[in-house]
Amino acid sequence: MGDYRTSFKLLCPGPVNVHPEIARALTAYEICHREEEFEALLAATRRNALAVAGADAAVYSALVVTGSGTAGNEAVLASAVAPDQTVVVLSNGEFGTRLAQISSVYNDTVHLEHAWGEPLDLHRLSEVLHERGDIGLVAVVHHETSTGVLNPVEAIGELCALHGVRLFVDMVSSYSADPVDLSSGAITFMTTSSGKAIAAYPGLALVIARRDALEALGDLPVKNHYLSLYRHHRFAEDHEQTPNTPAVPLVMALNRALELALEEGVEARRKRLAGLAAYVRAAVRERGLSLYVEDQPLSSVLTSVRLPEGVAFEPLRRALREWGFVIYGGKGPLTGQIVQISTISDLDTDVIDAFFAALDEVMPHLRVVRGGQLRG
Ligand SMILES: *Cc1c(COP(=O)(O)O)cnc(C)c1O
Repeated sequence: MGDYRTSFKLLCPGPVNVHPEIARALTAYEICHREEEFEALLAATRRNALAVAGADAAVYSALVVTGSGTAGNEAVLASAVAPDQTVVVLSNGEFGTRLAQISSVYNDTVHLEHAWGEPLDLHRLSEVLHERGDIGLVAVVHHETSTGVLNPVEAIGELCALHGVRLFVDMVSSYSADPVDLSSGAITFMTTSSGKAIAAYPGLALVIARRDALEALGDLPVKNHYLSLYRHHRFAEDHEQTPNTPAVPLVMALNRALELALEEGVEARRKRLAGLAAYVRAAVRERGLSLYVEDQPLSSVLTSVRLPEGVAFEPLRRALREWGFVIYGGKGPLTGQIVQISTISDLDTDVIDAFFAALDEVMPHLRVVRGGQLRG
């Protein structure tokens, strides 16, 4: 077993190494969530969350749900669909598949499943929207974290708007890193979590939703009490409160992370994150390694790299841990195929250089020759 009193350079897509000011914010004050100080904190957090998303506060509202990113996704999927409506979920990786699983618990669901890493087939979506009059919601992941692919959510939004269908975008990993144009209003719901690209601690979900859509949820039957989006909306709108006890220290830390993003400038921050991702990709290519995805838009959150012939993920992970780095491998069909390098932690290119120096050290010892013998 590991010793939990250890720190690592976290090059995984959440949890992340936080900025020292975010760490300080976690324990800065001790307040009660039913007092006015928390209401001021929640109001600021909701306002800052919209500002970071570039969402018009007259059109959109931001809600804080205590729970991981999945809590935000489940809140939307449990709250937004009438009993006589069907949800269409598009998937091309782990997190799209999870949306389909969650939706199936609460709703009639059509799952337009694609192979991992494949571009989404919008003709298939268009056909379903044409053929069926009962589609109440389309759900899709923006940055499919399991592959690194960015899905074309703006084009999907245009399709949905054409058919008068609401769109829910899981931006759990892309929020604040990869921009989405919200000006058309075609995206009705989006979600993120505190512990990914916004780079605070895990444990909170943000749901950003059109105000008109939130108001309309009051007419729908409740499918999940704790995660009722309408209840969160009413408490937030009427009292700057949450329905149940929120993780107050996490809200303080998240709000500081949002403030830091606004102080840096959302655009400048995106450029910085894109620069770090480009830096990683250049270092990958320099070593003759190849990216898992070459022909689709990639996120600024992480880079999926094909494991070279003869290198298994588990020994690589173990070796890099010895050097102080935590990375993720592939999930599902990509198990043993890829390694992911994420750069959303509070880091600079020195850390990336140190990571690749470590990689250069460990790689030659990991190649397995035929027959399973270790070389070197
Ligand atoms: C991480 C992630 C989730 C799930 O978030 P949890 O915080 O683990 O519940 C959902 N969708 C995407 C795209 C993610 O990257």
